Amino acid sequence: MIFIVPMCPDSNRNGVKMSYNSFRLSDSNPGHERVLIHMISMPTSPKTRPLPRIIDKGKEILMATKTVPKSNWSKAGVARTDTDVVVVGAGIGGYVAAAEAAAAGVGVIMLEKMKNVFEAPPGMTGARGNDTAKSGGGWGGLFPYPFPENSSMNRIIKAGMKDSRGRAFPELCKAFWSRLNDDFFWLKDQLKLPLKDRSTAIRPHTYVTIGKGPKTARFGLEYAKKKGVKILYRHKAIKLLSDNYGKVIGIRVMTPKGLKDFMAKAVVLATGGFQGNDEMKLRYLGNELTVGAPLTGSPWNTGDGHLMAMEVGAKMVNMDSVHTRWCTGKRGINPHRNIGVYGIYINQSGQRYVDEAGASNETSLLTAYQPESICALLIDERIKNFKIVSDAIKTNRFEKNGELMRADTLEAVARKIKVNVTVLKKTVQDFNAAVNPKKHTAPGADPPKGMKRTTAYRIEKPPYYFLYPVFPGLNHTTGGPLISAKCEVLNNDDQVIFGLYAVGALAFGFMDGLYHITEMVSGLELSLTLGRVAGEQAAAYAHGRKA
Ligand SMILES: Cc1cc2nc3c(=O)[nH]c(=O)nc-3n(C[C@H](O)[C@H](O)[C@H](O)COP(=O)(O)OP(=O)(O)OC[C@H]3O[C@@H](n4cnc5c(N)ncnc54)[C@H](O)[C@@H]3O)c2cc1C
Repeated sequence: MIFIVPMCPDSNRNGVKMSYNSFRLSDSNPGHERVLIHMISMPTSPKTRPLPRIIDKGKEILMATKTVPKSNWSKAGVARTDTDVVVVGAGIGGYVAAAEAAAAGVGVIMLEKMKNVFEAPPGMTGARGNDTAKSGGGWGGLFPYPFPENSSMNRIIKAGMKDSRGRAFPELCKAFWSRLNDDFFWLKDQLKLPLKDRSTAIRPHTYVTIGKGPKTARFGLEYAKKKGVKILYRHKAIKLLSDNYGKVIGIRVMTPKGLKDFMAKAVVLATGGFQGNDEMKLRYLGNELTVGAPLTGSPWNTGDGHLMAMEVGAKMVNMDSVHTRWCTGKRGINPHRNIGVYGIYINQSGQRYVDEAGASNETSLLTAYQPESICALLIDERIKNFKIVSDAIKTNRFEKNGELMRADTLEAVARKIKVNVTVLKKTVQDFNAAVNPKKHTAPGADPPKGMKRTTAYRIEKPPYYFLYPVFPGLNHTTGGPLISAKCEVLNNDDQVIFGLYAVGALAFGFMDGLYHITEMVSGLELSLTLGRVAGEQAAAYAHGRKA
């Protein structure tokens, strides 16, 4: 913060303009020293005195800014560095792209605005780091390996297209999804990311990183460093630089020492979603998701990459798409997969509003549009005793932490979850009447995919148990610049913006609802694949421009 308060008329002494000025410069103001009230000498000629100097009663005491040798200035008069490829953002999308480009033999600088990828934003303690660090480190939804024949993928995509109202880009989905397995096994078998196998008969090839999100974040950064990537923290990219033909030729960055232009042959944007930017959320997601879906993803992801891409003419797609997850009120734990699908979700009007067998992303998303954007997850004694359910209750300590509550009657449930008793009773009655006991899935099995409620069990055996409130958490937005199958950013005429690539959650827009409807791919996997593609392509482009 800088206050400049002229306090006396200018005077002119020995050819130097004088005025009193008040400066209050904070530590976070790069390139400045902390000073109090002094006089400042204004240069009469920029040649003799390149910068304003602060003086006190005619005595020079402090330089307010640091000079940069003129030879290092870009044309705009800003300090400059040259390299082949600049990657912006040090999550999984960014570090994979950076490492792959470096492995292809080009110079790579990766810029990250945090002081490290686990930093807590000012005033927030529970929300550390970027999305990669905050993730569960789960590698689920992988297609069975080896990749199934095209027809099954076509079927999935066709179904997903219907659900996404035709807003996904099926050719891009096919291009990237067909690499997911190979890229994952590259990470597992060649890079040797430590993984635990969590496969089941229904979900083969499901893994979790040992050490979850933090390990996934750290592992990739170490790998990128080994490959020769230079990582610069507290470097916030603010503007893409283009030449007269619209080619991207670098990026302007706020560094701890002030502005700097990183001139490069290619720039890869990997800045995540815009979930940390309320103004953008209101504009693209609307009030319900802005207010009704508390942030579970990184507040550091403020849509900087979106805004920079838009400024150079990128075509933005599916900006209203998001990735949400279920959260319990106290600790934000997702109870859906092992409890929710067997129970019923009740909104604040006392009604069901969603097919509970749907995916966590999709079912939780609908909750944002319910009264007060919260609900209760209700089960009965019989369901509570299913092994899969009781294990989940125990593992997540829902009873110990007072999150799973108990009531002997539906009247008591209604009182505790603040809904009308008659409405709740009718909701449960209607649901029970519709359940066909012959179509139950065996308890203990993983819930099947799809919209059909094949995990329906009557809610009829007291006591009743419920988690309340349960709400949708906003992990990250998924809309952003449209990319080609080479991760090049396209403009509004569907032409490539040369020199610009996008990866990670910033670039998931081509999938639209396929991301949350099918749950066939997850964020880490997709970011890994996009990162590999972009890294290879950006390096090749940089090589070409070198020649
Ligand atoms: C709570 C949670 C749980 C999840 N669990 C899973 C899971 O188990 N499995 C799974 O597959 N997916 C999961 N996901 C999704 C997955 O984590 C993301 O899709 C993935 O990490 C996205 O990676 P990214 O590189 O795009 O973003 P990030 O990892 O968020 O990285 C973006 C980086 O860009 C930086 N940045 C932003 N703007 C600038 C700028 N102007 N200049 C410089 N740097 C900038 C940010 O600081 C950040 O470090 C989860 C997400 C969340 C939030």
